[in-house]
Amino acid sequence: MPSITSHDAWFAGLKALGQDNFPKRCCNCGRVFENAADFFQQTQAIRPEITGLKAVYDEDDGPLVEVFRNCVCGSTLLVNCVSRRDDSTAGHSRRRLFDDLLGYLVRHGIERARARRELLLVASGERSEVLEIWYGQIAARGAKP
Ligand SMILES: [Zn+2]
Repeated sequence: MPSITSHDAWFAGLKALGQDNFPKRCCNCGRVFENAADFFQQTQAIRPEITGLKAVYDEDDGPLVEVFRNCVCGSTLLVNCVSRRDDSTAGHSRRRLFDDLLGYLVRHGIERARARRELLLVASGERSEVLEIWYGQIAARGAKP
C-alpha cells in the first residue's frame, strides 16, 4: 500500500522534504545554523560564481543536498557532514518520503526521471515551478489513491 494516498498528504510531504535539513552544525567549530536563511547568511560562497549547492541521490540515504560553503570559522563546510550515523532514522524517513512522493507523481502519469529531478530540486530548498504545475494539474483531475 502506498503511504501517500491524498493530494494534501503529498503536498505536505513535499514541503517537509524541503525543510528537514536544519538545524545543521559545523563539524569544525560546532556553530549551529537554524535554517537555510541563517546558513546562507552566515557562510560564504567558496567562489562567487558557484552556489555550492548540489543535489545528489545516495543509494543508502536517499536524496541529499551537498552544500559547500565557507563557515565563519574559515573551514570549508559540507553541510551533509552532519553525522549520517546519528541521523540514520531521519535519513531513512527522508528516503521513504522521497520515494513516496516520486511514486505518487509516477502514478499520476509523470515521467519518473523528470519527477525525480524536480523532487531533488525541492529537496535542495529550491522552488520547482514544474512541480507546482503538476500539483495543480493533479488537483484539477482528482488524486488517485
Ligand atoms: Zn565552523
